[in-house]
Amino acid sequence: MTARDRALELDAADPLRAYRDRFYRLPGKIYMDGNSLGLMSKDSETHIRTALEQWKTLGIDGWMAPGASWFSLGEQLGAMLAPLVGASEDEVVATGTTTVNQHALVATFYRPEGNRRRIIASELDFPSDIYALQSQILLHGGDPRRDLIRISSGDGRTIEENDVVAAMSDDVALVLLPSVLYRSGQLLDIERIAQSARERGIIAGFDCAHSAGSVPHRFDEWEVDFAFWCTYKYLNAGPGSVGALYVNRRHFGVHPGLAGWWGYQKERQFDMVHDWEGAPGAGAWQISTTPVLSGASLRGSLDIFNEAGIEAIRAKSLKMTAFLVDLLSDGGLLDHPYDIAIGTPLDANRRGGHIALEHASAAAIARALKRRGIVPDFRAPNVIRIAPVALYTSYEDIAQTVETLQAIIEAGEHLTEDQHRELVA
Ligand SMILES: *Cc1c(COP(=O)(O)O)cnc(C)c1O
Repeated sequence: MTARDRALELDAADPLRAYRDRFYRLPGKIYMDGNSLGLMSKDSETHIRTALEQWKTLGIDGWMAPGASWFSLGEQLGAMLAPLVGASEDEVVATGTTTVNQHALVATFYRPEGNRRRIIASELDFPSDIYALQSQILLHGGDPRRDLIRISSGDGRTIEENDVVAAMSDDVALVLLPSVLYRSGQLLDIERIAQSARERGIIAGFDCAHSAGSVPHRFDEWEVDFAFWCTYKYLNAGPGSVGALYVNRRHFGVHPGLAGWWGYQKERQFDMVHDWEGAPGAGAWQISTTPVLSGASLRGSLDIFNEAGIEAIRAKSLKMTAFLVDLLSDGGLLDHPYDIAIGTPLDANRRGGHIALEHASAAAIARALKRRGIVPDFRAPNVIRIAPVALYTSYEDIAQTVETLQAIIEAGEHLTEDQHRELVA
């Protein structure tokens, strides 16, 4: 059976195939970049239009009018996000943006005391996470060179949980790691890291930008202390859309490190008094007014997630990334002269939603793919991330991607294309 026939068979049997038409796929293109910016759903468009109409016809009354209720939008969206991360409704809120939420949570939960002042992160972290941690350490009068431990990677792709646990000495106050590493797509063992931290009196937080909407989590069961993520990647809420955060209920009532009026008790927020009285749940970590338009977009997208179910989404995602790896291997693309290497762990428990393809001419291959109508994602110096997204990618798209990769290398296009990355890559 040809790769394409196998793909068509898998598409015909795909229980999620109907969701593909709920999205605007780019005309004439195959989109493999949903881990950077998810595509727009028709549901999001409808909800944004509704929000615009409400603004147009209700003005200020949109905050409280039934059917609009913007005032509690962050909490409503939090309740819809909770099943994706294994939390109860009041532990999640949609607010802020990824890095801002990281600051708000680290400002709360990083409490250096005596000897216990170090933070564990990793050398493969997304840079923004590290910049935020460095500045938080500086705010506490610390020295990032001494107080920030960046776990090193043996292979430049992955982080060993054993190394993370081994670094948890009694001078560590906080461990903050990604759920899924943004380049290699390695999924870390969140449960093990959270429990090991807890046994040692260390707070554990996670950046779930690369797993929210792709990998189900069980934060409550794993006793994660806090987490935060964006909604514009796998959650498809649009560029710069509102972020989200999780605070485990055992921390409810703690004074937020970066408080703002939107985290006040809802019933009394407009009393406008100066004594802090935080909302009872994770809502207390909101700082500012909820962005209603991107919240509307997120609501549309979450309707789809809650219909499809995160377990079904994960099952298809794993099947798709396995199919991609199979086709690369069957087509000989992992051997000479194609020389593509896979940077993602192949164990299903250790991989997120994308596959990292490594090649010496990765930038040029990414350009050639784009010219041929396939939208990949490039990360310097040598990684092409391919993210088949369960809700809108077909197995046929994957077969087409592999066929095109093969054709590009056979034609030597990777040798003639520009080797430089673009500004946003
Ligand atoms: C995408 C991403 C971010 C983005 O941060 P913003 O504050 O939303 O710009 C942060 N951390 C990780 C790990 C990411 O993948």
